[in-house]
Amino acid sequence: MTAYAIGIDLGGTNLRAALFRDPLELLARPGADSAIEPVRHHRELTGDDRGPEIIADRLARLVFDIASDVDDTVPVGIGFAGMLRGHEGVVAQSPHLHWRDVALGDLMRARLGPRFPVGIYNDVNAITYGEHVVGAGRGARDLLAVFVGTGVGGGIVAGGELITGSDHCAAEIGHMKVVLGDDARLCACGLRGCVEAYAGGSFLERRVRDELAAGASSRAVDLGGGPDHVRLSHVDVAAAGGDAYALALYAEVAPLLGATLANAVTLLNPQRLILGGGVLSRTPVLREQVVAAFEAYCNPPALASVEVTTAALGDDAGIVGSALLAARP
Ligand SMILES: [Zn+2]
Repeated sequence: MTAYAIGIDLGGTNLRAALFRDPLELLARPGADSAIEPVRHHRELTGDDRGPEIIADRLARLVFDIASDVDDTVPVGIGFAGMLRGHEGVVAQSPHLHWRDVALGDLMRARLGPRFPVGIYNDVNAITYGEHVVGAGRGARDLLAVFVGTGVGGGIVAGGELITGSDHCAAEIGHMKVVLGDDARLCACGLRGCVEAYAGGSFLERRVRDELAAGASSRAVDLGGGPDHVRLSHVDVAAAGGDAYALALYAEVAPLLGATLANAVTLLNPQRLILGGGVLSRTPVLREQVVAAFEAYCNPPALASVEVTTAALGDDAGIVGSALLAARP
């Protein structure tokens, strides 16, 4: 029985790693009143030198350091923001690391050897799995998690299993199309009309700053101290006070995101819909409008059986979920 697992969160800002004890015990009883605390934890800045070989060297050193007094085989899960191709750990693209077609799994296996079997995961999938086992998804065998941060990411657990799809790119809910035609907003993925291009934090904040700089009038400008400093939290405070600009923006964005959630829940019939991410946690008015739109558009039987809840694991979700995924039998 594996007594330990390592979870790594390879982020654009921080590189975090943690050693966890008894992951299989948690996996054997998801839904129990379980907590997961790392035995050892390390965080450092990702830094500017992001070549794959250099990052792989650093990750391997971290693994050896953090498991220096453990003799067993220790599974290692690495979660990162970006798209995978296939199930062997090929990073198709990662915007934060500026990687394309990097065989991270092979690089890590060559450095770590058989004692540290490596799994590479999309960060939102890892977070979703963590929430499923020890977070807001405890006890739910079918769940959909949607995180609205800089982008819009999703994860699906069905029948207790994480759904990754045939080529490891399932649950990319941010790239579902909500506006059609040549005028639809351009997404980072290269296509137009994705919900991320409307509701993702980066896109939305840039749009707000552009519109306010171009003369749109909103209390958010005063709250932020100038159009260039307006954050979505300022827009939300303005919306709460009845600001016309903020309410018009939300009247456009909330139905697009709400309909996306409704379509996904209509398709999947999950027991729980977990909402998380930096945007929705800082914009209570937007969240409320998104949930109202979701409820209006969702297929009634699926709506009746779903509980809308909030992600619980916070910053630790990535390392926890990666460790648990790697430890799966
Ligand atoms: Zn897209």
